[in-house]
Parts: sequence; C-alpha cells; structure tokens
Amino acid sequence: MFKDFTLEKYEAFLKTAIANGYQLVSYQDYLKENFDKVLILRHDVDKKPQNSLKTAQLQHQLGVKGTYYFRAVPESFDVEVIQKIAALGHEIGYHYEDLTICKGDYEKAIIHFEKWLTKLRKYYPVKTVCMHGSPLSKYDNRKLWDKYNYRDYDVVAEPYFDIDFNQVFYITDTGRKWDGTKVSVRDKVDSKFNLSFHTTNELITAFNDGKLPVKIMQNIHPQRWSNNRLEWIQELILQNIKNSIKKAIFVK
Ligand SMILES: [Zn+2]
Repeated sequence: MFKDFTLEKYEAFLKTAIANGYQLVSYQDYLKENFDKVLILRHDVDKKPQNSLKTAQLQHQLGVKGTYYFRAVPESFDVEVIQKIAALGHEIGYHYEDLTICKGDYEKAIIHFEKWLTKLRKYYPVKTVCMHGSPLSKYDNRKLWDKYNYRDYDVVAEPYFDIDFNQVFYITDTGRKWDGTKVSVRDKVDSKFNLSFHTTNELITAFNDGKLPVKIMQNIHPQRWSNNRLEWIQELILQNIKNSIKKAIFVK
C-alpha cells in the first residue's frame, strides 16, 4: 500500500478516524462544544507552507477543519498560503518562538509576540497560539508566560497550558514517527495514557479496533507528509540525522 508520511497515508488516517465516529475539528472549535468522540487537527507549520496548503485542501475535500500554526520566520510565514488556508475555513494560529528569536530578552520577546500576532490577525482573527519547540535552542518559548499572560492579548488558549493531556490523548509526528517524543526535548506532555504507536498503520489499526481514547489531539508537521519522492527521501535522511543528534545530546 502507500508509504508512510505521504498524503495518501494521511488521507487514510483521516478517513479511518471519520469512519470510526470521530469529529475532526480545529482547536478553536474544540473549545466551543463538548464532543463525544473528537480528533483535534493541529498542524505546526515549521517550514514548507505549500505542504500545509495540501493537507488543508485534503481536509477541505473531506469536509473537516483544523488549526494551522504559523511561525514568524520566512520559511513558514507565507501570506498567500495563510490566506488560502483561512479561505478554506481552517483556523489560523501563531506558532510562537519569540523568546528564542529575542535571545531570552523577555521585554523584547513580548513586543515581538504582539507584533507578529497583529500581523497574523490581518488575515485571520487569531484566538489560539502554540509554542514552537525550538529543539536546538536553550530557550523554552513557553517561559514567556512566566512573566506575561497571553489572555491579555485576546488569546483564549494555548494547547500546552489549556489541554489536560490526561483527558486528551496526544499524538505527534515529531521525529517522523508517532513515538518520537522520547527523543523530543519539548514536544512532549504528561499523560496517563499508556499507548504508543510507531507507524501510521498502527494508528489506523488502533482506530479500527477501538483502542484509541475518545478525545485525541494530533500534531502533524505537514512538511513531512509529501508525495514528492525526492522531498520524501530528503525528509527521511534529514530526520534521521536530527534524531541521532537529539539522542546524543538528550538521551543518556
Ligand atoms: Zn514547531
């Protein structure tokens, strides 16, 4: 069948969730109602925004909506793509890393945060933000909220602070696999769920066997999900290098 981390595989994943009675929603919509079975579609647009446009179009065809978090850097912040994804009805949010960009200067970082939030709000009434993990940076971008409060900026929620991950099962493609949080520095959450999946096929099987919790947040990086063979191979090689660096630095 299809290789993992292709758009076809992602489509199969989404369709399986739908077939098993899950509502597929943006984070903003998740906050508005109580769903019996829900899969929050979160996307961190770290780079290659065109790939995010493709997952957004695919979801639109399936009649579902998700959240796309854009960074304040040229490899992510593509105005045309932001506008197109918003026009498809998806939620747009800010993938902040202001503390890293401002090298730990809190006062500069909050000004930078507000500036980019305002920029993004030209295209969408942004209500949620989400930290970028900045794996090779010494700064944890969430620390900005030790000194400031995002609610003062008309932001209603940040997943790392406002989701109880004992209630919502968190799955992320960090490390280009579904069990990569072991080697991730910051993209991990405390959770009571004792479930682990490596491939997308394993997740699909678990959906069909009813082994997944009723509330789930997916976090994918659409740059990894490609039908372009060369891009797919590049992403595989790059990720293997990154994973071995992370292991060398962070895993004892
Ligand atoms: Zn990120």
